[in-house]
Amino acid sequence: MDYQSTRGQSRPVNLSEAVRLGLAGDGGLFVPGVFPSFEVADFAGAEGLAAVGQILLTPFFSGDPLAAELAAICDDAFNFPTPVKPVAAKPGLAVLELFHGPTAAFKDVGARFLAACLERIEQRMTEPLKVLVATSGDTGGAVAAAFHGRPGIEVYVLYPAGMVSPRQEQQLTCWGDNVHAFRVAGVFDDCQQLVKQAFGTPDLRAARRLTSANSISIGRLLPQAVYYAATALAHWREHGQAPSFIIPTGNLGNAVAAVWARHMGLPVDHVYLATNANRVIPDYLRSGQWQPRQSLVTLASAMDVGNPSNMERLRHLYTGKDIARQKIDAWAVSDEQIAQQIVCDYRDNKSLWCPHTATAAFVYDHYVPKVPDCAHIMVATAHPAKFETVIEPLIGETILVPPSLERLMHLPSRYVEIEPDFAAFVEILSGA
Ligand SMILES: *Cc1c(COP(=O)(O)O)cnc(C)c1O
Repeated sequence: MDYQSTRGQSRPVNLSEAVRLGLAGDGGLFVPGVFPSFEVADFAGAEGLAAVGQILLTPFFSGDPLAAELAAICDDAFNFPTPVKPVAAKPGLAVLELFHGPTAAFKDVGARFLAACLERIEQRMTEPLKVLVATSGDTGGAVAAAFHGRPGIEVYVLYPAGMVSPRQEQQLTCWGDNVHAFRVAGVFDDCQQLVKQAFGTPDLRAARRLTSANSISIGRLLPQAVYYAATALAHWREHGQAPSFIIPTGNLGNAVAAVWARHMGLPVDHVYLATNANRVIPDYLRSGQWQPRQSLVTLASAMDVGNPSNMERLRHLYTGKDIARQKIDAWAVSDEQIAQQIVCDYRDNKSLWCPHTATAAFVYDHYVPKVPDCAHIMVATAHPAKFETVIEPLIGETILVPPSLERLMHLPSRYVEIEPDFAAFVEILSGA
């Protein structure tokens, strides 16, 4: 399998190179040269993420040095449950819980898979690989957890000062060893800009071995397609129908993975996107005009993205087609509506959502067309205990912290404060 750039200006590479490079040389994002096509029967007997992943990802690894390691990578990465639970008060709705990993967010899946690949690619290298990651909260923690202690790899996490919850900040800064945290005086887009600029500077790329762990990395997208495949297959086997997914969306990595799974023939019906007040995607689907903006600060902070990178992959997949006709729809949810959804679902149904998951719950209640006999699965992207500063005042109760998170809360915190200044960032990268 060859991987091409969405911008078509750099040479195709194999999987290991695409994973290693993060971003294509022309600034585009890597996409598979061709998508394999599957039928449900191809997955006969395969249950669970590791088993489904081995089948789904075999074509993506074919011809690559990592191909022989696919089974081991799947076992390493998919090591926590992703249960689907019915929502008792809402017949026809279930929730796919993706928050049972080490940092209680869906990004643990992609980050662990990427780390498992990179560790195996890096085995024969002498100079350490530097993994750069800009985060509005969850990515950094998941990447730090996934890479912590893996040999030959140094991680640089950049996050916007004052814009992540204290508990999230702790998960970004508690690691030490090969994980370095930077508190940037700016917003998420400033952090992402520093990382993008580093990759766009050929001298820097040549002198330092750099890679990205943001959701622009193909190594994170592929494993995300696996949980959509496994969930859709299980639903199909039990009910004989393809479910629709409702996905809290920021940088669009999670949703593109669902669209890719469907594109490969997995039984997925509609893909519905829920954004917070950063409404570039719903506006684009209505108007056809792609207009990135400055990001706004919202209660669902991990989705505060004004220029979602993965739109480039979606537009590449549906080149020349009207994306709004591809069974994709999107709606924006305001902070007020997020708060209202958290309060009502907890009061009335004892369902407690994180602010991101609450956008999907709101979209389900208010916008998604309810067709009889059509099942909807909303994606829960983080455990509510990660966003206690938002949720506890709303519900007037203390949220129980899951044990994996509780452990991290007691480790010492370490970070360096920096301005969103590229020259200063280059110095840090060169000095270390
Ligand atoms: C990152 C994140 C999202 C958004 O996912 P994208 O792939 O960026 O669209 C939603 N919810 C949570 C909790 C996240 O951490």
